[in-house]
Amino acid sequence: MADEKIRQLIDSCSEKGTVMKGDLWLTPDKSAAVYTAKSAGFCFGVQRALDTVYEQIESGSGPIFTYGPIIHNEIVVKDLEEKGVRVIETRQELESLEEGTVIIRSHGVSRDIYELLEQKNLHVVDATCPFVKKIHRIVEQKGNEGYEIVITGSAVHPEVEGIRGWCTGEVTVVETEDEARTYKPKTDRNLCIVSQTTFNLKKFHKFVEIIRGLSYHETAVLNTICNATEERQTEARSIANLADAMIVIGGKHSSNTQKLYEICRKECSNTFFVQTFDDLNLRLVPFRGIVGISAGASTPNILIEEVSKLCRKTILNRC
Ligand code: SF4
Repeated sequence: MADEKIRQLIDSCSEKGTVMKGDLWLTPDKSAAVYTAKSAGFCFGVQRALDTVYEQIESGSGPIFTYGPIIHNEIVVKDLEEKGVRVIETRQELESLEEGTVIIRSHGVSRDIYELLEQKNLHVVDATCPFVKKIHRIVEQKGNEGYEIVITGSAVHPEVEGIRGWCTGEVTVVETEDEARTYKPKTDRNLCIVSQTTFNLKKFHKFVEIIRGLSYHETAVLNTICNATEERQTEARSIANLADAMIVIGGKHSSNTQKLYEICRKECSNTFFVQTFDDLNLRLVPFRGIVGISAGASTPNILIEEVSKLCRKTILNRC
């Protein structure tokens, strides 16, 4: 017999305009369900960057380097290494390069890195996500117009480092509510607030409200959070809200996966962050009812499918 939550899940999946567009598997009596989020896994920007690397490998164009790992996923990075793609971690390493192709990943880089690559006459393949590029253009333009920039996000994240590197005036990165409350404009100019693409939307709105309340400046607010992130977070929140257990798959260094985990954990206390499906088996044993699955932007589809299969086998066959 289908319980109330499973009925709700079935209804949510069939509603017009629903965010729940993923794959739903049910036992014949509808007493258990496994739902894999449609938005789980590679986003457009990550897929595009990865395709770029494989195209370069196929073209056989000399030594290939990526500036930073192309995605936050050890399995994929290892596969690329085996195909001869080297990861450059620092500016110093870049400075010592004499030849080859350097691929800029979806996170983008600061303007001075482009300048360095040009000086060194290296072949550059730019796989910066167009949504990140758009932020570079905004902060550059707004800086030139005299705006002071506030970026909501993590100061140590490469995407934010890249965005900072396109700011032409004062810039502050705000990551926590405390930082938003204690933020003090550095100039008497207008403010422009943008966001790291993977920042939590609710936090973004909250920080904007706080900063607006503190400041006497005119404030331009540009919500630069990526749709892919919003969709992934909304779908994950909806399924976690109904789930008895929620699985979030992704690399341990992936900030968007960590944020996804936080969101799901708020809705469902039985939320698990897993990197591969190896350690999942035992964790699933106590669960019945609904198991939801989502994954960060750098999680390969093959991994999501493996986890989904294991859940179907464990949860649905047992009921
Ligand atoms: S999350 Fe959005 S902004 Fe970031 S790489 Fe993916 S599509 Fe681009």
